Amino acid sequence: FVAMASHELRTPLTAIKGFSSTLLEGVDDEIYTKDDQKEFLGIVVSECDRLRRLIDDLLNTSRIDAGESLKPNYSEFPLRELLDKVVKVQQQSTNRHTLKMDVQGEIPDTVIGDQDKLDQIITNLMNNAIKYSPNGGDITLHAMQNGDILKIGVEDQGMGIPKDHLAKVFEKFHRVNNEDNRKIYGTGLGLFLVKHLVEKVHMGRIWAESEVGKGSIFWFEMPAKLDVDKAKELND
Ligand code: ADP
Repeated sequence: FVAMASHELRTPLTAIKGFSSTLLEGVDDEIYTKDDQKEFLGIVVSECDRLRRLIDDLLNTSRIDAGESLKPNYSEFPLRELLDKVVKVQQQSTNRHTLKMDVQGEIPDTVIGDQDKLDQIITNLMNNAIKYSPNGGDITLHAMQNGDILKIGVEDQGMGIPKDHLAKVFEKFHRVNNEDNRKIYGTGLGLFLVKHLVEKVHMGRIWAESEVGKGSIFWFEMPAKLDVDKAKELND
């Protein structure tokens, strides 16, 4: 764990130090054009974001380990806007992948749940879909409703997950350790946290289907209108 965490913390820090030092050196001599400066600062900002996400993941994992709740904040909010926003934001992070939305039948206009955490769940799954599809391809966000249950899926055409890892990827620190995966950085905490947010915060369930070399689909189901009192009891 210490080796993984140190490595994951060091990588963005090295980039931040490198690009800000470069900018600093260029201040007096005006070596860099405005476009160069913008590019360097963009990298610094996105590496800071990465560092913050990593620290948040570590903090939230230790909270879960200590039996503390992730402090849900329930409300009723529009669903379609959330889905559109996540797709839009994620599309900005890649030009190798085409992000699509597939809404089947009617979906509820509004959902009762924790808006930020639902955003975090879908963002994380989309982010993984992009990350583990290094050759690009389509990433599809599926949404449908079965009775009172909202079902959401994120499908990719990436490297896939071997059958014996399908359940284990939701365990803390579990990463598929093969030739393709080793080159992709990560902590193995994302899906552990996502599972907690689906099961505990939204009283739902999550699972993955996949074929190696063809792609994966991560599904989760949750009540469209969460019983907030029951959920709060579960999280106390
Ligand atoms: P991380 O991406 O930081 O390693 P996660 O908990 O998000 O951690 O994922 C755990 C592991 O599950 C990953 O290391 C990867 O091996 C596998 N995985 C997750 N999502 C996908 C995906 N869409 N396609 C292939 N493998 C995946």
